[in-house]
Amino acid sequence: MENLTVSSDDLATSEAPCFVTEVPGPKARKLIEQDHEFVSHSYIKEYALAIHRARGAVVEDVDGNRYLDLMGGVGVATLGHSPPEVVEAIKAQADRFLHICGTDFYYSSFSSLAQTLAELAPGPAKKMVYFGNSGTEVVEAAIKLARHYTRRPHLLAFHGAFHGRTMGSLSLTSSKVGQRRGFAPFLPGVHHVPYANCYRCPYGLKYPSCEVHCADVIERSLLSSMVPPDEVAAIFVEPIQGEGGYVVPPPEFHQKLRAMADRHGILLVADEVQSGMGRTGKMFAMEHFEVVPDAICSAKGLSSGVPLGALISRAEYMTDWNRGSHGSTFGGNPVSCEAALATIKGLRNGVLEHGARMGARLASHLEALKEKHPLIGDVRGMGLMQGIELVRDRTTLEPADAEADQVVQIGFKRGILLLPCGESVIRFSPPLVITEQQIDRAMEILDEVLGEVEKTMV
Ligand code: PLP
Repeated sequence: MENLTVSSDDLATSEAPCFVTEVPGPKARKLIEQDHEFVSHSYIKEYALAIHRARGAVVEDVDGNRYLDLMGGVGVATLGHSPPEVVEAIKAQADRFLHICGTDFYYSSFSSLAQTLAELAPGPAKKMVYFGNSGTEVVEAAIKLARHYTRRPHLLAFHGAFHGRTMGSLSLTSSKVGQRRGFAPFLPGVHHVPYANCYRCPYGLKYPSCEVHCADVIERSLLSSMVPPDEVAAIFVEPIQGEGGYVVPPPEFHQKLRAMADRHGILLVADEVQSGMGRTGKMFAMEHFEVVPDAICSAKGLSSGVPLGALISRAEYMTDWNRGSHGSTFGGNPVSCEAALATIKGLRNGVLEHGARMGARLASHLEALKEKHPLIGDVRGMGLMQGIELVRDRTTLEPADAEADQVVQIGFKRGILLLPCGESVIRFSPPLVITEQQIDRAMEILDEVLGEVEKTMV
C-alpha cells in the first residue's frame, strides 16, 4: 500500500485513532467532485468521507484523517474492516476460480455455506437456503417463495419498515416517503400496519398495561374487515426496526405475530439483514424474542463486505418451487461464500461474545450520556445495535431532526463515523471487534458533540 505511516495492524488497534485535520481535505474534494459529476444522484452520501483504507473499527480517508467507525460500513463490517482471515479466504478463492454460476453448477462453498446457515438458523425444522447478492434480493426471493408456497397473494408489513429498494421489497418498505416518491404503483396486495414502537406508541398506550395491543389489533381490524387471513402469504417483519429508528419491540409482539401466523397458515418472515449475524449479541435477533420464524433474510454482515444475501427457510418451501423458478447469475458467488464461511468461523471463535460485551458497554455509556444530555430522549437496542432518539423536549417528544443531523456532521469532523435513522435517531452498529478503549474514546467525543449541539439550542 502507498503512503502508509502505520502498518495495517497498528491501524486496527490504534488507541487514539481519531485524527482529523481538514475535512473534506484536498484529495477528498477532488474525488467528491468527480463523483458528483459522474455518479447517479440517487445516492444519499451522508458526509464527505472518502475512504482510503480501513482495519478493525478504524477508517482512514484519502487525506490521512482517521475515524472510529461507529456505523460499521452501515452494519456490514462484522469482523471489522478487511479482517485478515476473510481477506485470506477471498484471495485463496480468487486464485482458484472467480465464477462458474451457482444457479447452474456446483461448488463446495455454495453447498457448505447453505448447510452452515441452515444449521445456524433457530428452530428444529430442517432448513434450506437460497443465495442472492444483497438484502433486497433475498427479500424479493422471500416474497416469491411465500406466494409460491402458499398460493396466496397478500403480504403484511409494518410502518417504519425498511426491506430494500427494488420494486417488491420497496413495496414493503415504509420508513421514508422519499424512498417511495415517484415510484408508484407498487406491488399489489401489500398492507402496512403499525409497528410496536413503545417510545411513540401509535395507539397512545403504555407497555405493559397495553398488553401489546398493536399485535392483537392486526387480526381484529385488518384481517377481519379487509384482508381475509387465508389469503395472506406472509408477514414481513424486522426483529428490531433498523432504518425506521432502531426500534426494539417488546418480546410479546413477535410472539403474538408468530401465534397469529400459525392460526392462519401465514409465513413469518424475519428480515435480519441488519439485525442478524451477531449484531445484537445473538446470531439472529429473533432468538432474543424466543420466536422461530419460517424464513430469515440475511445479508449485510453475513460476508464482511463482499456482496451476498441468503434466504434461509423451512425446507418444505424450497423443495416445493420448481427448477428454474428462481435464480441469479452472481448470487452465492464463490468469493462471497468463502468470505461468509470465514465470517461465521470468526463469529463462532469468540467475536459474537465479544460483540455482546461491547454492546453492554456501549449501552451503559449511552445511558450515562442520557443522564447528562436532555437532547437524548431514549436509549435502546440490543448488543451492538444501539440507538439514541434525540428530542427537543422530553415531554412532548418533539423530534430533534436537525440536531440529529448536526450530531452526525460534527461527529464526523471530530473523528467518529455516525449514521442517522428514523426521524431523529443516531444509530450505533460498529464492527463487533471494536475494543473497550475505542468505545470509551468514541463516547468521550460523542459527549462533547452532544454538548456542542445542545448549546446551539438555547
Ligand atoms: N432489509 C433491511 C432490514 C435492511 O436494513 C436493508 C438495508 O439497509 C435491506 C433489507 C436492503 O439491503 P440491501 O441494501 O443489501 O439491498
